Amino acid sequence: MSESKPIQPPRRDFLKQVAAVAGLTLAPGVFLQTVSAAVNASQRWGLLIDSNKCGDCQACVTACHTENGITDHNRPETDAQWIRKVDLRHKTTGRVHSLPMMCQHCEHPPCVDVCPTGASFKRQDGIVLVDKHICIGCRYCMMACPYKARSFVHEVITDQKAHAPRGKGTVESCTLCVHRVDTGRLPSCVEACAATGRGAMLFGDMNDPNSELAQRLRTEYSTTIRADLRLNPGVRYQGI
Ligand code: SF4
Ligand code: SF4
Repeated sequence: MSESKPIQPPRRDFLKQVAAVAGLTLAPGVFLQTVSAAVNASQRWGLLIDSNKCGDCQACVTACHTENGITDHNRPETDAQWIRKVDLRHKTTGRVHSLPMMCQHCEHPPCVDVCPTGASFKRQDGIVLVDKHICIGCRYCMMACPYKARSFVHEVITDQKAHAPRGKGTVESCTLCVHRVDTGRLPSCVEACAATGRGAMLFGDMNDPNSELAQRLRTEYSTTIRADLRLNPGVRYQGI
């Protein structure tokens, strides 16, 4: 008779459910996550962006890239971009709206569907991430993402942040500043936007009926970009 062994959960499940992990070291200087609470499947983190309040400003981009250690190599075609400002022109009025674009943290993310290794995954609270340790850099997810939200890292990274592991030959995108969210803080872009006085970005739990985000989504008009794809993004826009 064979000895029964406890079933080990797949690594991806572990990452999805990571909870109360205090400084788990994966490689010298690279930490998985330090979180204070379990990922809560009843939550869905999201953003509401009001393009009427968003102007000719790069505060969110600068804050994101500073927070996550994204540096330019003077190669705009291939430099990593976790968030970028885009101009959308209205088809009939011609009015141009400037707004930040990042991973839309889709409920039905095609980047996850096409990933052959399981590196691209969605947490139970809706945040879509890449596990850099099992990403093979095939870039299928980049091709599948309709928002061009993902970047391939072409350069050797020497100055990465412990909370935002990065590596040459892997793909990355906005994490919603998961390391901050898991400790009760706002994503750095939202904080920076508020500091400018514009307050164009609101972060919160879309599933909590009492959150300001959920209340505004209930009572004010908002939309998603490429709604026709039915990916149900976690990022909603107003004024477009
Ligand atoms: S925006 Fe792109 S990278 Fe983000 S979840 Fe959707 S398909 Fe994936
Ligand atoms: S580049 Fe990485 S995350 Fe993207 S599909 Fe390939 S293995 Fe998955």
